[in-house]
Amino acid sequence: QINIFWFRRDLRLHDNTGLYYALKSDKPVLPIFIFDTQILDQLESKADARVNFIHNQIKQLKAQLEEHGSSIKIYNTTPLEAFKSLTETYDISEVYTNRDYEPQAIARDQEVEVLLKNNGIGFYTFKDQVIFEKEEITTATGSPYKVFTPYSRSWREKYKAGDYSPLPDLTNHKNWHKSKPLDLPSLDDLGFEESTISIPNSSINKDQLKQYDEKRDYPAINGTSRLGIHLRFGTVGIREVVQKATNINDTWLNELIWREFYMQVLANFPHVVNQAFKKEYDAIPWLNNEADFQKWCDGKTGYPIVDAGMRELNNNGYMHNRVRMVVASFLTKHLLIDWRWGEAYFAQKLLDFELASNNGGWQWAAGTGTDAQPYFRVFNPQSQTEKFDPELKYIKKWVKEYGSKDYPSPMVEHKFARQRAIDTYKKALGK
Ligand code: FAD
Repeated sequence: QINIFWFRRDLRLHDNTGLYYALKSDKPVLPIFIFDTQILDQLESKADARVNFIHNQIKQLKAQLEEHGSSIKIYNTTPLEAFKSLTETYDISEVYTNRDYEPQAIARDQEVEVLLKNNGIGFYTFKDQVIFEKEEITTATGSPYKVFTPYSRSWREKYKAGDYSPLPDLTNHKNWHKSKPLDLPSLDDLGFEESTISIPNSSINKDQLKQYDEKRDYPAINGTSRLGIHLRFGTVGIREVVQKATNINDTWLNELIWREFYMQVLANFPHVVNQAFKKEYDAIPWLNNEADFQKWCDGKTGYPIVDAGMRELNNNGYMHNRVRMVVASFLTKHLLIDWRWGEAYFAQKLLDFELASNNGGWQWAAGTGTDAQPYFRVFNPQSQTEKFDPELKYIKKWVKEYGSKDYPSPMVEHKFARQRAIDTYKKALGK
């Protein structure tokens, strides 16, 4: 008999909780990975950089495991089909995996658990992608927090009181299942192509991040960690990142707490996936003009900071946080386009796309969320530029034709759009 460890968004052999407990069990451990067709089928680009990234990461894990006489079993199908096939191929006692808090993932795991139980196989899940799960940080009366600041205070107190150190590297563990090398489908077999987008590395640059609080708001400066994609797919462990952040820069730590805040919002209030957190905001009559939306997607709004951001996103799968706030505000307030349209566009493009943070960021900008921007506040792209890109370095990097006659004039006038947004929100909310 063997035990299985199912890799998902925890693609590493060190500081991996579920893997740690799997290898401690009394059976040899065969790791598996499933290229889940239900997820891959939703991706619009055949050159999706995230699929490339995962594929490369699996290739590396496979090579590391094969050096130690083991391998990794890879499927390209639905999880249910993969587990059916697995139970027919191997004599399995238990399956170990790390918990995922997105509604689709929860539903998937419930189905797999039923299938395994019907086959007499145990299914064990572990906390790994967060320091604290949704029930661990609550108000005095035990309800979830809806506001960030008190949440972060409780989070910090609990963190100080406990031990959340990283777990050891497991590459050399004696309990890996011995196996000949197993097959890895090529990108082409999966229906994808190489992407030209390059992925930042996963190292934590201490010297740079020491000044995170001073530099993080300027999109022309490389002042943030660029760890997003690594946190998304678990090529770094959150315990290591948080431990380092506590010694490097408190504002940086605060952003990592935002990540957990939004994860608990999603887990505690799953309606946010397709509804406003504050339900009365679903009454806003969005204009949803498709031609306007297309201009925003293409970075052709005539607002240079918005266009620079969208072009950075389209080219690099990344957008600086400050600019994410500006473009999201522009779409929802200036153009009165449903935040869910923008959210879906980001989900296709961002390397670091994560349902909880993306949804939280969009609902914040649209004013529909937990700690939202008040509805009457509308970012002014011009003053955001003056504050955060005063020398227009970021704008000139991405909008080459800026200042020439080829650059479009603003698609909507700021003052008019601002007033229209405020009036529309006011009326819909009955204020
Ligand atoms: P750093 O600034 O170095 O921060 C380190 C890590 O902390 C990030 O990688 C991320 O995991 C977390 N983090 C930082 N800021 C936030 C935040 N405001 N909310 C939640 N987590 C945060 N972040 C995502 O990870 N995925 C998304 O899909 C996403 N969509 C967003 C959409 C909008 C409209 C907005 C306004 C923000 C969004 N963010 C998202 C948050 C933030 O913009 C990115 O996490 C950050 O820009 C990533 O850059 P970095 O890796 O250099 O992060």
